[in-house]
Amino acid sequence: MEPIELRRIARTITTVENQADGYEAILAQAYRLPRWADVIGITGPPGVGKSTLVDALTAHWAEAGQRIAILAIDPSSPYSGGAVLGDRIRRTRSAGYANTYFRSLSSRGHVGGLSETLTDLVAVLSLFAFRRVIVETVGAGQSDVEIHGTADCTIVVTVPGLGDGVQASKAGLMEIGDVFAVNKADMPGAAAAARAVENALAAAYMGEPGINISDKHRVVPGRTASLMPGLAALRRRHGDTSADTSTWVPPVIQVVATENRLVSDLAATVDSFVDWSERTGRRTERGRERAYSQIMRALTARMLAPYLRAPGADRWPATISAWVERIAEGKASPVEAAQALLDGVEK
Ligand code: GDP
Repeated sequence: MEPIELRRIARTITTVENQADGYEAILAQAYRLPRWADVIGITGPPGVGKSTLVDALTAHWAEAGQRIAILAIDPSSPYSGGAVLGDRIRRTRSAGYANTYFRSLSSRGHVGGLSETLTDLVAVLSLFAFRRVIVETVGAGQSDVEIHGTADCTIVVTVPGLGDGVQASKAGLMEIGDVFAVNKADMPGAAAAARAVENALAAAYMGEPGINISDKHRVVPGRTASLMPGLAALRRRHGDTSADTSTWVPPVIQVVATENRLVSDLAATVDSFVDWSERTGRRTERGRERAYSQIMRALTARMLAPYLRAPGADRWPATISAWVERIAEGKASPVEAAQALLDGVEK
């Protein structure tokens, strides 16, 4: 990409990120695109090699001529400007490709929340003809679960010796992976780590550890559904092995990101999941769910706007203040206040 185009992309993203003047027009155009970039989320505990793997995957796809954008979510506060890690250390291989674009995003300080901003940014990047957007999280906290809602494929990364995948299940990561990567497979214990993930997955899908998920005969219908709270969501995403003809069992792939080993296998697996979601209508369905919650958020924000305290103001709007006083004096209840406000009754 020409430097001038990179600057345009950066400027457009900043406008949308800050919901600055003109952002609605940009979004109106972006949301009318027939197809968006595939969103690939990468998550996992710190130090497992997510950045290295993102770099390797980006180089792999960029090499094939695709336009790839990386959005790296940093945990830093918005006041320090977001990008603490920068792209210098993260990108050693992919930086050489002109068809790649890197951007750090603060995990905080977005009007409407991170996943809302992410969705808007994916739309904008699609406007600039990106084929894929790789979203990398810090592996600690809410942002990991949030990207899951936006991603067309979520890769959960783990490494040998992390306590048999138990950490992953504790962090809720077992439930959000479409594809699992055991990175640092050059270290001892990679096969055992992969097995541990497979067992944890079997437990998650069937409610019992050690069950081979492809072995339908051992499934006891109706018995497992209550065992895991995330199971319903998981089945919505991957299909129900006891009911659907086409289901997805998350593959576990051993890779060595630093040596680029099996990275192409991982890339191909990501593609087959995206294809599968598309074929089974799940991608479209997810888009609808997302659109619904986006409308709800936008609607809520607009409806509440007249009642909110303006930034910097020390009082509520007069209509609200009047009700606050009445409630404080023991002359009305909050429910009565809300109803009266909705009915447009002045107090
Ligand atoms: P992140 O915190 O998950 O983003 O992890 P990084 O990508 O920063 O990697 C953490 C450390 O693991 C770095 O020192 C990497 O060089 C190293 N690393 C990444 N991938 C591999 C791998 O496949 N094998 C080995 N032995 N080390 C790796």
